[in-house]
This record gives sequence, C-alpha cells and structure tokens, in this order.
Amino acid sequence: MDTTKRDKKEAPSEYISLDLIPDPLVILRQDGTVYDINTSFSNLLGTKKGHLIGRNFKKLKLLDQLGDKIIRNTAKNVEDFDRITFNNKHFEVFILPFRTKDNSSLIRIILKDISNFIRLEKELLKRNKELIITNTLSSVFISTENMDLVLEDLLEKVLLITDFHTGWILLKEDLKFRLKSSRGISHELQKNIQEGALESFCNDTLRLGEPLYVAEPSEISRTSVFHEDGIVFLVAIPLTYEKIPTGFLFLASRVAKDFDFDFAALLSLVGNHVSNIIDKIRLFLETKRFAITDSLTNLYNPRYFYECLDLEIARTNRYGKSFSLILFDIDNFKRINDTYGHPAGDQVLRGLSNILKSISRETDIVVRYGGEEFIIILPNTYEEETILLAERIIDIVHKTTFMVYETTGVKVTLSGGIASYPQNASDAKNLLCAADTALYSAKAAGKNQIFCFKGKMDEKNFQKTQES
Ligand code: GH3
Ligand code: MG
Ligand code: MG
Repeated sequence: MDTTKRDKKEAPSEYISLDLIPDPLVILRQDGTVYDINTSFSNLLGTKKGHLIGRNFKKLKLLDQLGDKIIRNTAKNVEDFDRITFNNKHFEVFILPFRTKDNSSLIRIILKDISNFIRLEKELLKRNKELIITNTLSSVFISTENMDLVLEDLLEKVLLITDFHTGWILLKEDLKFRLKSSRGISHELQKNIQEGALESFCNDTLRLGEPLYVAEPSEISRTSVFHEDGIVFLVAIPLTYEKIPTGFLFLASRVAKDFDFDFAALLSLVGNHVSNIIDKIRLFLETKRFAITDSLTNLYNPRYFYECLDLEIARTNRYGKSFSLILFDIDNFKRINDTYGHPAGDQVLRGLSNILKSISRETDIVVRYGGEEFIIILPNTYEEETILLAERIIDIVHKTTFMVYETTGVKVTLSGGIASYPQNASDAKNLLCAADTALYSAKAAGKNQIFCFKGKMDEKNFQKTQES
C-alpha cells in the first residue's frame, strides 16, 4: 500500500523536506492519526515510516505519554510543550498546531533531545549539594575547648544535609569505640552503645575496608540493638585519619530509604568531611594541650597556671567562698642530681608528678611551676581542707621509693606552703608571695612539712619578703 506516496502528494510543499530537520518530527491530523514523519522520528521508534503513517498517536509508545494534551491544544489552536522520556532519553516536546493552505488543521510535534542538559542539570544539582555539604560542615565551630559540643554541632549539621533524623558518632579511644554524640536514638540504645554493643559490628565493618557500609535489612533485624529501636535502614561510615580508623558516623532511619549510587557518593563525601573536621579538632586540642603543659611531667605549665589563678580570683570575687594554693618544693633535690645524675632527677620529677596528679581532686589544677617546684590550685577550698590534702601528699611522697635506672631506689621529701584567697592576699602576686613565704618557713623549720601563711600579704610585707 503506497500510503506514504499518497500522503506526500497531499502535503503542502513546506513538509516535503521534513528530513532536513534533524530532530524527530511528526505531523498529526486533528483526529490524532499520523500524517507525516521524518526519518529521525521513524529511527527513534525503530519502525518504518510506512508502518506509522495513518496510525493513531495514542498507539505509538512515544507519543502516548502526551495523552489528551495534543487534542486539547489543537482544538484550542494553542501551542504547548512538555517533557517525555523514551528509551532512556529525555525529550522536550513542542506541540505546534497550524493550518495548511487548504485550511485543514494539523499538529506539528518536534522532539528535542535534551538528555545531555538533563545530565548536566543533575550534575549541577549534585555539585550544588556537595557545595552545601562543604559549606555547612566547614561552619562547624571548632575553636572551642569543648569537643562534645563541637561533635553535637557536627552531627546536627550532618543530619540536616543528609535528610536523616537519627544518627550518632563514635570515636576510638583506648581501642574502644566511644559514643560521643547522638540524635534521635532511644535512651536504651544510647546505653547499649555506651556499653560497647557495637564493638564487633564496628570491627567487622572496618575489616571490609569500604568507605561506606549499608546494613542489609536481614542484618538489622538480626542485630537486636537496632531492631529493638525500630531502625530499618542503617549506614555506617568509617571515619579515618591517614587510613587509620578513628571512629564511625552512623545514620539510621525508622522508615525505608531509597539508596542509589549518588546517595552513596554523597554520604562518602559527608564521611570525608566529618573525618577531616574531627582531625582538625584533635589537632587543635593537641596544640592547645602542648601550649599549656610541661613536656617532662605532663602537668600544666606556669602560663596556664597564671590564667587559672586570674580566673579563680575573678570567680571567688563574684561568688564568694575561698580558694587555696599549695606551693611545693622538693627538699635537697640538688643532691639527687649530684648523686644519681640529672636523668635520674628527671625520673623522680615524673614519678612525683604522677603522685600529685593521682592524689589531687579532678577539679584541682596541678602545675609544674619551676624546676622542682609544684603548685596545686584548689578551687572552692578553705585552708583547713587544703592542709589535709597537702599533709597527705607529703606523707605519701615521704613513704614512696622512686625507682631510677630500674634498679635504684631514691627517696625524697617535700616542703609546702599554703595560702588562701582572699584571707591571705587580695591579688595574685601577693597570694603567690604568701605561699612562697610559708614554704620558706617550712624549709627553715627543717623541711618535709607544711606551713600556712598567717595574716595578710600586702605591698608592705611583700616589699619586706623581697628584701630578706
Ligand atoms: P631545698 O631543699 O632548699 O629546696 O634544696 P634544693 O637542692 O632542692 O634546692 P635548690 O634550689 O638549691 O636546687 C634545685 C635543684 O633542682 C637544682 C637543679 O639542678 C634541680 N633541677 C631543676 N630543674 C630540674 C630538672 O628539670 N631536672 C632535674 N633533674 N633537676 C632539676
Ligand atoms: Mg627550688
Ligand atoms: Mg628544692
């Protein structure tokens, strides 16, 4: 049947060269039957032109997506456009009704392949999302002393950008994964994680060496801690520093989630950022710790001591109460160096520092003030309580044998001076001088004992101590 030939004969001259148009093009009659097509259109459908002419567009897989839109707009004689997908390609469809010279109504439909633009658009959206991730996460406030607050802020931002409501961060400390921050999990799960319920899960996941681990639903239902908390979707992202595992970021959901390659790539990116931020926080805290600690003993250094002293004075002025200082000095320490050598002296200093640290309270600030001088600041503590601690320390030190060079036992004693604020002084300089004066008295009285400063150190007797 020579339908094509007949149709072409009827067609106005402007359609004879349809093949000159590279985009797929079809002309429909008002009743929806195909009037003409170009080669590009028949190629797209993979059907010969002869099979398509005269068929209703609704029977064609490609155009059936446009449905009644075509007929509706043709009747109104309005132009329209739409987007359709066919064979994994995306098309923008222009629906253009027109009239021929003999006044018959036809519809020209041109398909523009926009797959590349769609791909580009998707890519841009992805990039945009990545930028949002980078920007959001880089705004995590890391210059703070409180690592827990930083991790909370970090987790909150991660959940926001990944569209999860539940998640937690574990960091490796002393070979164990410790829960550092969590959102949206039950108290029970929190407790279980704190008690190490995820240790083997984490270690098994690390062994896989993948940047991201999506737990199978069967695995979730087998793992009671997840299952009992209603979790149905779980991603574990190992956090690493120079390929060494430092922790885990967990993201969980109580409703099923679609997971595709793009989402996985996004979560890996988030994981990278979180790892970097945690490393920066660690570095920041380490640098800060270096700046305030003494390298030989790991106690605080004088710089930090002066900061704390000012803070304690300000706090005491504001809230009342009292705080105290003990200034210790090792008795006859020069002799230890002279007898056993300087490295042995260093070992004794380290051993003594450990004792001071272990006996003092969590809130006390233990400082290596000078070569063999130590200070303990006791916040919120009056003289009487301070004496008890100081006596205990010199007693324990007196009874301790410090091992040097593994085989040699060395004995030392301490003398100490105590001063309290505001009872013994009204500023930092005078308080220190009061403690030093008391220490001097302890040394003068025969060493291995504690003296408390009596009275108030002021400019007048400060001058006197400087002169003597
Ligand atoms: P006193 O009972 O009067 O305090 O006598 P002392 O020998 O302890 O006092 P002195 O101030 O005369 O000597 C302190 C010694 O501490 C001198 C110095 O060699 C030693 N020293 C200071 N810093 C260090 C250190 O870092 N390591 C070692 N091994 N010795 C130190
Ligand atoms: Mg000294
Ligand atoms: Mg000394």
